[in-house]
Amino acid sequence: MPVLDRMLVPLSKPDITQREIELVVSVLKSGQLSLGPRVVEFEEQFASFVGARHAIATSSGTAALHLCVRGFGIGSEEEVLTTSFSFVASANCLLYERALPIFLDIDPQTLNIDPREIERFLEQRCLRNGHGGRLIDKLTGRTVKAILPVHVFGLPCDMGCILPLARDYGLDVLEDACEALGAECNGRRVGTFGRAACFAFYPNKQVTTGEGGMIVTNDHSLAKLCRSLRNQGRDEGCSWLRHQRLGYNYRLSDVHCALGLAQLERVDDLLSARETVAAAYHRGLARLPGVVLPFTPPGLKRSWFVYVIRLDGKFDKRLRDNVMTQLRERGIGCQAYFPPIHRQPYYRQFSASCFGSLPHTVAASHQCLALPFFSGAAEPQVRYVCEALAEILPKQVCRAA
Ligand SMILES: *Cc1c(COP(=O)(O)O)cnc(C)c1O
Repeated sequence: MPVLDRMLVPLSKPDITQREIELVVSVLKSGQLSLGPRVVEFEEQFASFVGARHAIATSSGTAALHLCVRGFGIGSEEEVLTTSFSFVASANCLLYERALPIFLDIDPQTLNIDPREIERFLEQRCLRNGHGGRLIDKLTGRTVKAILPVHVFGLPCDMGCILPLARDYGLDVLEDACEALGAECNGRRVGTFGRAACFAFYPNKQVTTGEGGMIVTNDHSLAKLCRSLRNQGRDEGCSWLRHQRLGYNYRLSDVHCALGLAQLERVDDLLSARETVAAAYHRGLARLPGVVLPFTPPGLKRSWFVYVIRLDGKFDKRLRDNVMTQLRERGIGCQAYFPPIHRQPYYRQFSASCFGSLPHTVAASHQCLALPFFSGAAEPQVRYVCEALAEILPKQVCRAA
């Protein structure tokens, strides 16, 4: 490729306008940088957007998940059903409380937790300890407490199947909606299905506060507990130096919330701009052999977080990694979303009872590839990426044959 034609296309880029700058500056001028009115406003606007009664802003999505795990009372040696094809925080939040993730395999088409795997696990590996008693994992003897579905890449999990299973087996549901702000399952926004849900505002997410997260729930006492845990265990209305329980400093400042408010004002535009970029990729890659495009089943509305393609069966991990190297040589940002959590170095110590062989998870982690994706991506940038792939991929397959 001639050097003159080279472009730099980042993997992601935040979308910040004058409005964000104005609101942030107004907080800086106000003198109240934390525990002020912007936090309350951001929480109220966010709750109303998702359609939940309560929203609690936190310092990160990870902090939001941790508080929910604690708030649900999930503790030492207890198990939660989730997936390994995710960002590490969705499993770490369990380890913080000495609970254990049970990784179930994904549906290879949606890349989300496969409800049939949940059903199989509950039917074959679990035992009810007396009427209304604990649900026991027969293999480990531990108690199974909850399901933690991750709406991966902004695609909602099959909540129509997951919720009845949770109800039948008496399990709590915590949605990891960190990648899925605005996504819908049968016309209902994600974040309203579980007992609680978590969102995140890192700069690559659909809405950013720099760093930040949010818990949403309709459960009044859980909301109250999470507010206290977020604020060093203080109860509402109590004095600054009275700590009712073991808490954390997981607060989000007014500076961050002002940024979030400006983003929320234009959330519909931000989401539809991402949709436009996704459509441009669809057109540009539709007829490219070897590429499987992101799939959205009927009844689901994806919120475009990343644009992840999957290379087909002719590609193994080595070839996918070659493709990434060559994209980067052309100035194109890309990432192997996701290496499976259960293969992360820290997770090797956990016993195989936490996960089976997870063939679909491992295959997806070898073949998936995130392309540059952000609301401000221009047509020529998308075209440049598509043309680069069209040039790189055929050579790879050739080399493999
Ligand atoms: C981004 C993300 C989180 C939270 O990330 P933070 O960086 O802590 O805000 C959690 N789970 C998933 C699946 C995510 O993508």
